[in-house]
Amino acid sequence: NSVMLRILQRRSLQLREKQQDWQESPEGQKMLEFRRSLPAYKEREALLKAVSQNQVVVVSGETGCGKTTQLPQYILESEIEAARGAACSIICTQPRRISAMSVSERVAAERGEKLGESVCTARGMKGRDTRLLFCTTGILLRRLLVDRSLKGVTHVIVDEIHERGMNEDFLLIVLKDLLPRRPDLRLILMSATLNAELFSSYFGGAPMLHIPGFTYPVREHFLEHILEMTGYRLTSYNQIDDYGQEQKWKMQKQAQTLRKRKSHIVSAVEDALEAADFREYSYQTRESLSCWNPDAIGFNLIEHVLCHIVKKERPGAVLVFMTGWDDINSLKDQLQAHPLLGDPSKVLLLACHGSMSSSEQRLIFDRPEDGVRKIVLATNMAETSITINDVVFVVDCGKAKETSYDALNNTPCLLPSWISKASSRQRRGRAGRVQSGECYHLYPRCVYDAFADYQLPELLRTPLQSLCLQIKSLQLGSISEFLSSALQPPEPLSVKNAVEYLQIIGALDENENLTVLGRNLSMLPVEPKLGKMLILGSIFNCLDPVMTVVAGLSVRDPFLMPFDKKDLAESAKAQFSARDYSDHLALARAYDGWKDAERHQAGYEYCWKNFLSAQTLKAIDSLRRQFFFLLKDTGLVNSSEENCNKWSHDEHLVRAVICAGLFPGICSVVNKEKSISLKTMEDGPVLLYSNSVNARVPKIPYPWLVFNEKVKVNSVFLRDSTGVSDSVLLLFGGNISRGGLDGHLKLLGGYVEFFMKPAMANMYLSLKQEMDELIQQ
Ligand code: ADP
Ligand code: MG
Repeated sequence: NSVMLRILQRRSLQLREKQQDWQESPEGQKMLEFRRSLPAYKEREALLKAVSQNQVVVVSGETGCGKTTQLPQYILESEIEAARGAACSIICTQPRRISAMSVSERVAAERGEKLGESVCTARGMKGRDTRLLFCTTGILLRRLLVDRSLKGVTHVIVDEIHERGMNEDFLLIVLKDLLPRRPDLRLILMSATLNAELFSSYFGGAPMLHIPGFTYPVREHFLEHILEMTGYRLTSYNQIDDYGQEQKWKMQKQAQTLRKRKSHIVSAVEDALEAADFREYSYQTRESLSCWNPDAIGFNLIEHVLCHIVKKERPGAVLVFMTGWDDINSLKDQLQAHPLLGDPSKVLLLACHGSMSSSEQRLIFDRPEDGVRKIVLATNMAETSITINDVVFVVDCGKAKETSYDALNNTPCLLPSWISKASSRQRRGRAGRVQSGECYHLYPRCVYDAFADYQLPELLRTPLQSLCLQIKSLQLGSISEFLSSALQPPEPLSVKNAVEYLQIIGALDENENLTVLGRNLSMLPVEPKLGKMLILGSIFNCLDPVMTVVAGLSVRDPFLMPFDKKDLAESAKAQFSARDYSDHLALARAYDGWKDAERHQAGYEYCWKNFLSAQTLKAIDSLRRQFFFLLKDTGLVNSSEENCNKWSHDEHLVRAVICAGLFPGICSVVNKEKSISLKTMEDGPVLLYSNSVNARVPKIPYPWLVFNEKVKVNSVFLRDSTGVSDSVLLLFGGNISRGGLDGHLKLLGGYVEFFMKPAMANMYLSLKQEMDELIQQ
């Protein structure tokens, strides 16, 4: 022990020496000078004092004031200065992987180091002296799974808590429970907005520290003014008021019909605004808020505003807030074709979203040459987690993609929806970092007035299955009791749905105890249904195609559907599913073909010819590799790769495994003379997305389709599907462990009765029981 202590001391001294050397070097001096100019620096001592005297501290401050890059560093530096460097271990969580990466790189640079010395990320190299870890909240949660008291960790910093992501809210409950058992552990919560009281009172009145920031004034322009200023003509703009009246009436009528179908989300999209330029702006009504159509946020108007800025305004970068990756890409294409905005000698056009590489990302921070205007198209990520210093102009479309969850129908919906007043303010603030700025809101003032003050926390708008599983595997007691101690607890109905789902798939037994399957699922960082597919894929030795399917479903669809070549693209996809009636098998085939082509250096051509995204395929490829290691780590795969794939060529078996994972995502198929009628038990009639391979066939020779995702727009649409037979459904669908044979009969009875096919049920039950026992072992 005393030897250990001496080693620790020696290392601490070495760390201190190294830090001093850097700070005294010319580059180190320059860096320190920059760091001292940040608003956070003035609060350094107050902050360190608060952290040493209190177990929990809540820190708020304007974006860019130096919370993320400075605060963890202050703690690290002061520990090192006090010669305790080798004994400290600081974890700082970020909601997104991309910010964890960019921040850790930045902090390492500020310390004159490379990543992996004193600062690291979860995936990167970890050195002997790594003391400060930047990781996603999810990674810390997974660590808590194996290390429930966070042994050795001295400080936990949870960043961007104002975003109220599900993981952050979950982490806070766990930490709140852990703090009394770890009195020496320090917790620091950081947030960009001023609603710190909520968090402070959650932790029994923890002290709050505010970093006063300085931003220059930003002038706001709402749509009315933008139109006036830029001379953009919206002929029907005057009709908005009349239209609103008519819309209200229509909405009420639609609400009635929807309510009949037990829906509580009213989403009536209307394209009644006839004027050419305004059509994209058709109103959408959701709940009582009338708003612009989210699907197309008026690209022409954005183009027009950008032209106005480039031609008429003073120099300064432009930041455009869009809803998502696809929107950004389409707008970028449109702008690149524009004579002024597409001219690289005048405009530097960049995109900024979660799935981009760090080299692409760095371009965003660089200053362009004189005379070139930088325009960055970003998602709401640029609201708080990334700061681009030279922004003077902000264009705000007023929307962000958020998952909302309809507990009544148990359907997740990913729809662009209106941001909150807090987000809108935040977006505006991005324009005033270096000088006074301008913000263009592409919606009328009256719409802004109807925004909610803050966004609903994710815990209240997404399905809770993975979360419930984690609660169980962390042995946190009763699910509903645990969740009721959240900052803002979710609806009991959502909790009940999630628990029931986990019981149906066999992850929890009837007493809400984790089954063997459930324990294994909680170790895989994918949704429970996808985890179940992976586990069954390894049990049945057909892992290869199953891993591709799961990776594809967790990344995104690699099949591209360009708007103007939709037909060609759809038939290209159909080629991969000859006689299969499965989007999932088509995906696996397309991937295999690409791997083959890659081996002959023809990957790019292959993608081009088949309308596939090489970038997505690469992401799938790397995820597949991670799955394999994970399955090996958790002991689910213990044989050679060859062995796990003994039955990979067996399309029927793979289909069955897909069915096991996706159940109870199931719909019945009735082939009619001219059409196919599809129904699910909860929704009644449903439709297929046009890019599903099953949407293009005259007949589907399977009585059932299993699907991963359904989305509610006006009707319910299934995004992807695979045909399965009766016997496969009965054998692989659901699980007998819940309520024994009788319970299962009842569950299947629900389906069987609903679809009136009672004869099959009894036949297969005993077989089914054997199979479930096999899975649970
Ligand atoms: P906060 O977390 O309070 O929003 P940050 O700590 O992220 O602020 O950033 C503080 C300042 O550090 C920013 O205003 C910016 O000037 C600078 N900065 C942050 N990241 C980078 C980077 N990758 N490259 C250059 N400067 C950066
Ligand atoms: Mg930050």
